[in-house]
Amino acid sequence: MDDIISKEEKQREKDYRRLRTRTPVCLTCGYSGSSSSMHYSHIAPRRFHDDGGVQCLNCHGERSAAERGLSYEPQSENPQMETIGRYLLALAEWLTRIAETIAAFGAWLLDFAESSPNVEPEAIA
Ligand SMILES: [Zn+2]
Repeated sequence: MDDIISKEEKQREKDYRRLRTRTPVCLTCGYSGSSSSMHYSHIAPRRFHDDGGVQCLNCHGERSAAERGLSYEPQSENPQMETIGRYLLALAEWLTRIAETIAAFGAWLLDFAESSPNVEPEAIA
């Protein structure tokens, strides 16, 4: 009997579980292509906290390179404070990248608006 779900669909479902979303989009560059080309990227290393988001392989690799040399688990006498400090610094770095992406998308949209015909709001829905 043929499988109702194809191998590709099974792989996509596995990717969605791994990425923790069914609509993966790179938080840094907006890539939304193949889910197999995306990672679940932790804000701070997993040993510090499990929060994170989706990044494409390029953006995740770039971000990971910036973290080389940092410890992947608390090293101080106060691991709770170190965890919070690492989380906040990493989150600030993420938000900076997201703010840059939002600004780039906004600039692109305004450029596009200059050369596009007017669309009435009720026509968008
Ligand atoms: Zn990306």
